[in-house]
Amino acid sequence: MKKLIFFFLLSISVLSYSQVRNEIQIPDIPGFKTLKCDFHMHTVFSDGLVWPTVRVNEAYAQGLDAIAITDHIEYRPHKNDMPGASLNRPYEIAEAAARSNNIILIRGSEITRSMPPGHSNALFLSDCNALDVSVYMDAFKAAKAQNAFIFWNHPGWDAQQPDTTRWFKEHTELYNAGLMQGIEVVNGTEYYPEAQRWCMEKKLTMLGNTDVHDPLTLKEGEHRTMTLVFASARTPEAIREALIERRTVVYLNDKLIGEEKYLKEIFHQSIEIVNTEKTDKYYRITVKNNSDLPFYLHKTSHNPDLVYFRDYTIDAHGRHTITVKLANGATGGDVNFEITNLLAEPNKGLHVSFPI
Ligand SMILES: [Zn+2]
Ligand SMILES: [Zn+2]
Repeated sequence: MKKLIFFFLLSISVLSYSQVRNEIQIPDIPGFKTLKCDFHMHTVFSDGLVWPTVRVNEAYAQGLDAIAITDHIEYRPHKNDMPGASLNRPYEIAEAAARSNNIILIRGSEITRSMPPGHSNALFLSDCNALDVSVYMDAFKAAKAQNAFIFWNHPGWDAQQPDTTRWFKEHTELYNAGLMQGIEVVNGTEYYPEAQRWCMEKKLTMLGNTDVHDPLTLKEGEHRTMTLVFASARTPEAIREALIERRTVVYLNDKLIGEEKYLKEIFHQSIEIVNTEKTDKYYRITVKNNSDLPFYLHKTSHNPDLVYFRDYTIDAHGRHTITVKLANGATGGDVNFEITNLLAEPNKGLHVSFPI
């Protein structure tokens, strides 16, 4: 009997373990909450391998605030197993689970066309079925008629862009008509520097999503690719407003990709200055990193008056004391470095100048 009770308790603890939420520690920035979002994923309602509620459970366990299930409209290999299913079913099925797990669920679809224009996601739809039309432009217009936010998916996917990541005249048409408001700068673990450039030049929103089809499992310490959205509140309306206003940063492995002003804020909000000490020989600073992100510093301009690191890593949640030696009788100056894992430009780190 005792043994039985033991196994019973063990099975309960195993069951409840699967419901543990792993919070992602990336700080808020002044005036906004940093919401962790994944706007691109699939279920059995297109070519995915999970039931819609599983996407909600994964999002809860992996510390997300918001998800959009975006099944393909035009590619549904399991269609015969659920004849006549509405394109709204994945959302409807996941809705109750999202509510009870406090996950914001956004209704979406993937407009799945050959290149050009390729694949695009439409978010905040009210009826996905209206996008099931033969001419691609009509699908985009139907999405727009529902006030959707539309972005171009995986622009450099080699199945559709075998040589280079190209921008076609069809993309200009969509862009000019307000039917392309953002681009996936990261899809899964693939980073498209060209897309980051386009977003910067054309004032488009940068997104990073998993596009996951299989069950999404993570190893200890891993996180999924996501879009960090700087929203005024934790609501779908605030997410929508933030996406339109381009307040996003893409989080891929140990990198952040986005606009300089947001990367700077994340860095400043992550780093807490614990102590500073200055003598005529050195300046010493102790910092604590309160985020999940490490910061890889690389010295940029050399100043012979200040002697400091060439490369230095501030570990995630680490506490570090950094010394800058004052040489040649100098009393101060600028410590200049680049944070190589905060990509403010395609494949280029964020420049920081710290006066001492
Ligand atoms: Zn796609
Ligand atoms: Zn997809």
